Amino acid sequence: MKNTHENEPMVIIGAGIAAVYAAESARKAGFDGRIIICGDEREAPYDRPPLSKKVLQEAEEAAHISLRDNAFYDAHNIDLRLGNAAQRIDREARQVEFSDGTSLGYGTLVLATGSSLRTLPLLHPGMPHVFYLRRISDAIALREALPNIRSLVVVGAGVIGLEVASVANGMGIDVTVLEAGDRPMARATCAEVCEFVVKQHEQRGVRIRTGVSIREVTERSSGYRLALSDGESLDADAVVVGIGVVPNVALAEAAGLETCASGICVDGQGRTSDAHIYAAGEVAFHFNARVGRAERQENWHHAVAHGEHVGRAIVCSGPDYEEISGYWSDQYDFSLQSFGVPIGEQNVVRGSTDIGAFVVFHLQAGVVVGVSAVGVPREMRAGKALVRSAAKVPVSVLRDASVDLAKWREARPSDAESASESA
Ligand code: ADP
Repeated sequence: MKNTHENEPMVIIGAGIAAVYAAESARKAGFDGRIIICGDEREAPYDRPPLSKKVLQEAEEAAHISLRDNAFYDAHNIDLRLGNAAQRIDREARQVEFSDGTSLGYGTLVLATGSSLRTLPLLHPGMPHVFYLRRISDAIALREALPNIRSLVVVGAGVIGLEVASVANGMGIDVTVLEAGDRPMARATCAEVCEFVVKQHEQRGVRIRTGVSIREVTERSSGYRLALSDGESLDADAVVVGIGVVPNVALAEAAGLETCASGICVDGQGRTSDAHIYAAGEVAFHFNARVGRAERQENWHHAVAHGEHVGRAIVCSGPDYEEISGYWSDQYDFSLQSFGVPIGEQNVVRGSTDIGAFVVFHLQAGVVVGVSAVGVPREMRAGKALVRSAAKVPVSVLRDASVDLAKWREARPSDAESASESA
């Protein structure tokens, strides 16, 4: 059957990390049609991890976080259409309609719509002295406010909340973190890593209160009084809310594509329930062949790897997605790196959490499925190799810092193989 849409462009909705990598990888794989990246923000695609780190500390950093310069888009023949939100997908006509009334036909559509902030009704975005962090404009607004803040409450002790707390503490601001759950970074770290992180904050005077939420908010002459669920109240000049995100599935859902609470459902190639529409990055509830099921990942590594995978798959489908992703978090003078599953049934520490030089191996059924580390890059590299090969390593070996893990693995390649077969 003749494809009447074969001359239509590849249209990518969303102008974030996954979008740029999908476009670039489609080009590398030989896609020679037009590629149009459409974003609702006015800025050209930029990197997000620095928003809760360097951009809060240094005014000029905001200028350095563009993912690619104009020459890149020109050289790859990629059009950027910015400041215009996609509002509707007409799957029958294969068209996307935009908020400014225009529409674009597509041959292939890629949804790289990312996530939106979860918000607190009592402290909603747009209220004075209330800050959220998702976009570059949010980070600039917070950076400009920080020098005039003496007391700050951070709601949510996830990666974002704790990174903001560390920056504010470094500026001499009195910081209290309120966490509804029973421990900080519960999604991103095991108890052993969490304990180290909490200690770093407490040693510098940041108070982290767990198991509390905000019941009532009253305005003061400067900032707010917050009545807490434990009966106490707290005054703060400003509040930063970092309580996580939800995937932006509305466009896909309204178009009748298969979605769920975890995102837009896609197969191992990134294809949605419509063969002409793909989803990439944080919004995609994607099949990962390595874990044998669908999952959603919210980190930078995944946005890059899944974007690349989907861009390639559009041109020529290959093996299903099977990347292992991870994250890093910079707080104070330490950088936490994590790769693979960040919490195991068993978490084995090698090194010293007291001096901030340690690696933690996360095990499931005896297999190293993840690794987290602070201050030991060589151990981290060896740990990543164990995760990649799904190695089964005795706990006594993992724990013993005198055993060189890279050498140990080289000497016993069969252990790693048998473990990956049985995994
Ligand atoms: P991020 O990566 O954006 O930091 P996470 O989902 O990892 O997001 O962390 C958000 C944190 O916010 C979690 O620890 C969660 O328990 C906490 N949280 C969610 N809702 C509330 C709330 N209403 N009050 C306080 N903490 C909250």
